[in-house]
Amino acid sequence: MAAQSTLKCMTHPAYRPTLELVLREALDYLDQVDDRPVRPTASLAELRSRLGKVLNDESIAANQVLEDLVRDTRGGFLASTGGRFFAWAIGGSLPAAVGADWLTSVWDQNATLYRSSPAASVIEEVAGLWLKELLRLPLSASFAFVNGCQMAHATCLAAARNELLSQRGWDVEKQGLAGSPGCRVIASNRHGSIERAVRLLGIGEGNVIDLPLDATELATAEALEQALRDTTAGVPTIVILQAGEFNTGGFDRFEELIPLAKSHGAWVHIDGAFGLWAAASSKFDHLLRGCDRADSWVTDGHKWLNVPFDSGYAFVARGAAHRAAMSVRASYLVHDPEARDQINWNPEWSRRARGFSTYAALRELGRNGIADLVNRCCGFAQMLTDGLAELRGVELLWRPVLNQGLVRFRHPSAGTEDDHDAYTDTVIQRIVAEGCTFFMGTKWHGHRVMRISVLNWQTDRQSIDTAIRAVAKCLLPEYGR
Ligand SMILES: *Cc1c(COP(=O)(O)O)cnc(C)c1O
Repeated sequence: MAAQSTLKCMTHPAYRPTLELVLREALDYLDQVDDRPVRPTASLAELRSRLGKVLNDESIAANQVLEDLVRDTRGGFLASTGGRFFAWAIGGSLPAAVGADWLTSVWDQNATLYRSSPAASVIEEVAGLWLKELLRLPLSASFAFVNGCQMAHATCLAAARNELLSQRGWDVEKQGLAGSPGCRVIASNRHGSIERAVRLLGIGEGNVIDLPLDATELATAEALEQALRDTTAGVPTIVILQAGEFNTGGFDRFEELIPLAKSHGAWVHIDGAFGLWAAASSKFDHLLRGCDRADSWVTDGHKWLNVPFDSGYAFVARGAAHRAAMSVRASYLVHDPEARDQINWNPEWSRRARGFSTYAALRELGRNGIADLVNRCCGFAQMLTDGLAELRGVELLWRPVLNQGLVRFRHPSAGTEDDHDAYTDTVIQRIVAEGCTFFMGTKWHGHRVMRISVLNWQTDRQSIDTAIRAVAKCLLPEYGR
């Protein structure tokens, strides 16, 4: 007892100076984030030489460790938490979500079982229900808080694999895939995380069939019907559709495609990494019509909800298949039949209590705040895309249906498409180097293009004007005033 109380007296004061230092440094970082270049300013060699110390033999005081860390990482960050970042699909972090995330570390809970952290279990129960309400998913769906859509795909597709094979009398959890009827995946244009989930699950990339897209970049019912009926018909089938395609933000025609897929006995999985949040806005929820009839859905908290990394969610309409694919038992685990044990739904064993930051973000914004965030980001994406399209040298390729647009830069005196591709990459490099804003390129219909994605709660009118001016400046060498 004596030893314990001594320990207690010593531990508490030990944290205070450290957390006070962290608070100061955190506020400094956030204060400066708007005044510094969006791109990182430290080179690879600099970061390696500053951080690559010989591991010390003796202890170092915690504050010293953190002061060194702050100094040595300086310039090694992408200011994606700020409002002038439009690359990939990243999103920032809301104050309450950052605060809850800090507390999550302080509380240091292993959110595996109700018994290992009652509050973490209940908060996931509550936030899971809120998410289903907001995203207009069946309230009876099971769910898991995972680290992103990558693992959410793996979780949902494991449930799909379990269900489709058990319908054919095959227990894939016990028997594995070898010798089973197998699985095939039919998918519209998809994010690479689908392929990786399919690899992890042993389905194999070679068993993913591409659905041809029409002029609006969407899969048609005819194409799906044909794929469902082709030579491999009869093989257990997972159909994967997009709620927010990664380049265009486009939505598949759920009302037509989901009933069609299901009439062939397929499991329908929806990738809504950012697009599922359209459900929270009455202006955009029509894009998701019929989507609630799928079998599983994924979305992220670390993108549009502006929760700090990492945070993703998996939802499964057939909870029994989800649980059968994930649940484990071990002699030392204790279960409470009344409460939620996350280990029944999650692919991880020990895990961070991710529910706290999601819960905090949802309450900070509220239903109206989330709708407003979605509407604002979509409005700014339109404004940014249209503003860029007005500049000389900019070709508009995709006007946002949601929060994403695509443009390309055309060289005034170049003849070939390859020249325009090279020019597009050059202009993107100039924009990044200039530092006021940050975009990235992608390949679309065989050409280099610049992607515009707006997901950050801090993006405002001024961020958009600054970004347009920055791009205009980078076109000056070829286009003049
Ligand atoms: C970001 C993204 C993913 C991958 O999600 P992570 O959270 O990075 O694992 C999957 N699909 C789409 C459409 C995405 O935008």
